[in-house]
Amino acid sequence: MNTKRRTAIVTGAARGIGAAIARRLAADGMAVAVIDLDESACADTTGSINDAGGTAMALAADVADEAAVNKAVAGVADALGPPTVLVNNAGVTRDDLLFKMTAQDWDTVVNVHLRGSFLMSRAVQGHMVEAGFGRIVNLSSTSALGNRGQANYAAAKAGLQGFTKTLAIELGRYGVTANAIAPGFIETEMTAATAQRLGMDFADLKKAAADQIAVGRTGRPDDIAHAAAFLAGEEAGFVSGQVLYVAGGPTN
Ligand code: NAP
Repeated sequence: MNTKRRTAIVTGAARGIGAAIARRLAADGMAVAVIDLDESACADTTGSINDAGGTAMALAADVADEAAVNKAVAGVADALGPPTVLVNNAGVTRDDLLFKMTAQDWDTVVNVHLRGSFLMSRAVQGHMVEAGFGRIVNLSSTSALGNRGQANYAAAKAGLQGFTKTLAIELGRYGVTANAIAPGFIETEMTAATAQRLGMDFADLKKAAADQIAVGRTGRPDDIAHAAAFLAGEEAGFVSGQVLYVAGGPTN
């Protein structure tokens, strides 16, 4: 439990990993702003937090849109107090082999993950510096190590690791840490869509993935939420600039 109520922002938190992180941070005592493209899509996440006695609000913003990001962060600060925890989770995939990948699919993926995390972090850091406390958690991926059909996504997720380490260096003296979580295969709509694209049943894809994972199962959003709660916690102030692979085993 946090001793002081912090305000957290979780992007892409209408569903999947982001929703689990938002619920977990709220359960740990934080007021949580749930940001996604569509405000009404956030109702499940905010409703479950408020029903459990927590505090949550929903805001619509495209994290790659500079004006929308600045407006959303100002709205959070007004409504819930200065945001001092930020989880850059919003993400998309546009998978294809390099020779078929369009420039638009490249730009979409790089913009949401990299430009989005940059804009959100820049908008929030002033509140963190003023508070002398901050926790930035960026969602990378095991795909950062290379993954067939994901040149755009792998580049963005590897880029996020360099971004994270640089924020850690620049902001550390102000009490702000920055870390990345690199999940392996997590059961969400994102991986369900991968199964569809490959023409596979989701259960078959999960089984094939689990066979390659040391702990013998695929991950769940709560596995990532647990790691995010640790990195966002008051007591994790000496952990910064790290990439935590949460993948059920060692990665290559
Ligand atoms: P998901 O189920 O597809 O959820 C992603 C959420 O982000 C959706 O609600 C989506 O909204 C939202 N979003 C997309 N673009 C956005 C934008 N420009 N601005 C604001 N919100 C936006 O994905 P997930 O599996 O939970 O993944 C969450 C994060 O973990 C992503 O960064 C992903 O790359 C990363 N990750 C996932 C896995 C995995 O196995 N699932 C593994 C490694 C890393 P819409 O529905 O409206 O598009």
